[in-house]
Amino acid sequence: MHLDDTIVAIATPPGRGGIGVVRVAGADALSITAPILRLKQSLEPGRAIFGELIDPDSDERIDEVVVTYFAKPHSYTTDDIIEISSHGSPIVLRHVVELAIARGARLAEPGEFTMRAFLNGRIDLTQAEAVNDLIASQTLFQAKTAAQQLQGALSNRLKPVKEDLVGLIATLEAGVDFAEDDVSVLPAEKILQRTDVILEPLQRLADSFAYGKIVHEGLTLAIVGPPNVGKSSLFNRLVARDRAIVTATPGTTRDLVTETVALDGIPLRVIDTAGIRAAHDEDEAESIGIRKSHEALAEADLVLAVFEATHHPDGNGLPDWFSRQQPEISQTLAARKLILVENKVDLLSQRHSEASASVETPRVFTSAVTGEGIETLREKILESVRGNVSGEHESGFLTNLRQHTAVREAISALQKAETAVKEKVPHEMLLLDLYAALRALDAITGETTTDDILNSIFSSFCIGK
Ligand code: GDP
Repeated sequence: MHLDDTIVAIATPPGRGGIGVVRVAGADALSITAPILRLKQSLEPGRAIFGELIDPDSDERIDEVVVTYFAKPHSYTTDDIIEISSHGSPIVLRHVVELAIARGARLAEPGEFTMRAFLNGRIDLTQAEAVNDLIASQTLFQAKTAAQQLQGALSNRLKPVKEDLVGLIATLEAGVDFAEDDVSVLPAEKILQRTDVILEPLQRLADSFAYGKIVHEGLTLAIVGPPNVGKSSLFNRLVARDRAIVTATPGTTRDLVTETVALDGIPLRVIDTAGIRAAHDEDEAESIGIRKSHEALAEADLVLAVFEATHHPDGNGLPDWFSRQQPEISQTLAARKLILVENKVDLLSQRHSEASASVETPRVFTSAVTGEGIETLREKILESVRGNVSGEHESGFLTNLRQHTAVREAISALQKAETAVKEKVPHEMLLLDLYAALRALDAITGETTTDDILNSIFSSFCIGK
């Protein structure tokens, strides 16, 4: 990756819009753009200047533009940056890019602006990842979480841990260099105390991934149950739109219908399944539906099992409909978090008890027609989704697998070090484990990262970011 050439890209999304922005970053940003701009005033750092975009050969005006100059090092990439805002016409924007390329700029790779910000040391790797998360966020809560990480929430949380580790390494190194006749500079219990102090916050950080993953990726909720109990109607209530086809004929929801809703800031992918039917069903489309239901069940984090309240008097376990399913389906169901939903309560003359089936399996009474119980259902879903995952009230939690893997590597290296201490292994050997832990922590912020990892991170960015 070259850092010294000047790169250009359209920074706004593809398509037409009120305004489109082309970004030029690098040492030649000013000289490349000067001939294609006719400005009312000369450029000043941090100020937007009105002017015209012109064809440098004919002097012909192409568009009216606003140009902003970010002087190095106070720019996104730390290079000189010129941002040209024209009308949001793809043709005009592409032309600006072509004019810049003709004058010596290179088309930027996906994520290259952010990668430069990282390589030039303005942001660390967790912050670079946060940029992508912020852009990709589906809910405001996700955006806020990403913004915290962009501000360095995760790096700040790692910092004291790393300082402790470096301190321990320094003490032991000093001992290795100066100790005579193998006299230990630090007694074993003192070392273990210090590794414990490092391990404890790392363990909590690793645990926070359970919550971070939910925030980041969301969860999948499958709605299952016999035909005609109101699954599609409940689905519509939950996604608050008329998305699934609701019909009065049993088993006609042939395909899976999926919709993502934000439940308290957590993206929830809701899957409405075709009714899971008995195995002897002849209808082909129907059995495809059954197979898809099964697939949906297998990938669901949470399952709403829907029944008609009228047909199901008070009981405590799972309704026997489950036990009549194919064994593989019952098994999959048994392994999932469940919420029992008794729908069509509006048809009941008398209500039976609202008591939960059990602590693990809540029971909710709803009417998709009147809307009764839908709010309670939402709350139960949220409780179930959150469960007892920690991390919710902490900032700087782990949001991706890369970070989680690195923290787990650091933990396992530290645990190996602890074992080594207990087994009275020489400090030189112990230090190897501590350095391994440090390398893993450094990889999170990108202080030590291979090009492969960098490429895989930045290639998931969009062009112009
Ligand atoms: P699915 O086959 O389980 O997806 O069921 P649908 O959502 O297609 O609903 C089947 C029929 O039951 C439709 O006629 C719905 O209008 C009706 N229905 C759904 N929910 C309720 C409810 O809570 N109360 C009443 N009275 N009817 C409902």
